[in-house]
Amino acid sequence: MIDHPGRLVLRLLFVLAFCGTWHLAYAANAGDGVDQRAAKAALLKAYPGLFTIKGNVLTWTDGTTMVWDDGKKRDAEALLESPDIEDMFRYVYPKAAAGALVPAEDFDPGRIRNEDFFEKLYGASAAEVGKHIANVKWLPKLGKKTVQVTKVFGIDELLGKVSDALEAMPAELSRYGLKPGGGFVWRPIAGTNRLSVHSFGAAFDINVGFSDYWYNNRNKSNPKGPIPYKNRIPLPIVDLFEQNGFIWGGRWYHYDTMHFEYRPELLLYKNSG
Ligand SMILES: [Zn+2]
Repeated sequence: MIDHPGRLVLRLLFVLAFCGTWHLAYAANAGDGVDQRAAKAALLKAYPGLFTIKGNVLTWTDGTTMVWDDGKKRDAEALLESPDIEDMFRYVYPKAAAGALVPAEDFDPGRIRNEDFFEKLYGASAAEVGKHIANVKWLPKLGKKTVQVTKVFGIDELLGKVSDALEAMPAELSRYGLKPGGGFVWRPIAGTNRLSVHSFGAAFDINVGFSDYWYNNRNKSNPKGPIPYKNRIPLPIVDLFEQNGFIWGGRWYHYDTMHFEYRPELLLYKNSG
């Protein structure tokens, strides 16, 4: 059957429109699912006045430049080992309001961190980070503990707000704060040579007694097998941290349920692609 010429034009237009849409979609997410515009906007809003992003270049106020997206394809392991800045938005962080969730395999929103970027935010050595560390009175009425976090971005004050609000919660919730783990410690993540966010003074472990960590619960006879999810930290506590800019390690496939870290960019980022 021969197409009517008018119909042929319509078909051609349809094909062109379809290709155009595909091309735009590809340009918007660089092929890795990240909404480029939303990710850049979230990063700029989270850490205002420190850098600009033009095209593929992030420029700090002192003139240092970093690549936004190096275009390399990375598997889950490489994303953890050597991510570019754009890769940090690979997974959309689900807030506490999304309810109880079991993360899919390798779904680790926030575990992907470009180390150079964080060193620039908080300091590149224990001494440099140490200059900004403050003591925060954690649950001063209930537990009388002191924890150390950075003053950068007012993280010490934000943790203080979490402490005040948690202390005002009913005892069945506030008791989860009674045995805090560390704040600032310059150290690599166990079993890796990557720096923990605790090194930057931007993380806090709420309770060593109610902690569940993926590595301890993995199938030891089949280390590559599925990791069973476990959590004992109530979501209203997670919500409280999120309101103050912290994300929760209980949202990760490689979970660390007592762990909270200051990552406002991930709380702001929504993928509209
Ligand atoms: Zn931690």
